[in-house]
Amino acid sequence: MLEGKVAIVTGGTRGIGYEIVKKFLNNKAKVVLFGSREESVKKAVSSLKEEGYDVFGLYPNLSSLDEVKNAYDEVINKYGKIDILVNNAGVSSATPIEKYTEEEYEKIVDINIKAVYNCSKVVVEYLKENGGVIINTSSMVSIYGQPSGVMYPASKYAVNGITKSLARELGKYNIRVNAVAPGITETDMVKNLPKEMIEPLIKTIPLGRIGKPEDVANAFLFLASDMASYVTGEILSVDGAAMN
Ligand code: NAD
Repeated sequence: MLEGKVAIVTGGTRGIGYEIVKKFLNNKAKVVLFGSREESVKKAVSSLKEEGYDVFGLYPNLSSLDEVKNAYDEVINKYGKIDILVNNAGVSSATPIEKYTEEEYEKIVDINIKAVYNCSKVVVEYLKENGGVIINTSSMVSIYGQPSGVMYPASKYAVNGITKSLARELGKYNIRVNAVAPGITETDMVKNLPKEMIEPLIKTIPLGRIGKPEDVANAFLFLASDMASYVTGEILSVDGAAMN
């Protein structure tokens, strides 16, 4: 479904991002994964290589426009173009507002909003040559809010705003911009959240289970492919109808 395409996946070292990388590779894309640290990038790249995939990884600071530009230059040097950007890197939070620190606020804003803005801003000049795709990882909490950790849902509302606005701004270049809003998905991010928060939520899910990274990655594959050629500005929920 992605033969001949070059894709960048931020936060591709584990969880949902890792599964998106595998899904794209299985569908014949060339993929560059971005992670936060050299060590985690090397680990992800070597385990993918062990599974027989040809992939390469970088670890720019996504909140620095210059570092993002340099990383894109490396992708262009290697593959000559960029067709698909997946803004997936993210950090969650469950801290009550009275306990929020300035550092936590800034960390969430930097990775969940500024990185999406930076990576999207710099990719436009590459995508606009032949058209292309940007897909952002939003969240179920961008629709329903969350009972603590206010800046996490706030950041995902911002992701939805960026998605809908860039879809309108970049349509003239045949750049489609969409988001996937996962429900609770089985990754490290969820393992770090308190049980008291997760268990009552699972009881409300009509499909009776939390999502698997592959459930979510399938939606990214659809949106990245020509199967979604007339879909833009969409926030696609992949949440088992949780909270409905
Ligand atoms: P995860 O913690 O397993 O993976 C997060 C990824 O983001 C990692 O690859 C990590 O390297 C990257 N990352 C974190 N901080 C970074 C930084 N400062 N710079 C660069 N990269 C950084 O989490 P996940 O569950 O796979 O989350 C992926 C995305 O899905 C996030 O945007 C998250 O908000 C969203 N999401 C997750 C769930 C869930 O239940 N797991 C639900 C809804 C949305």
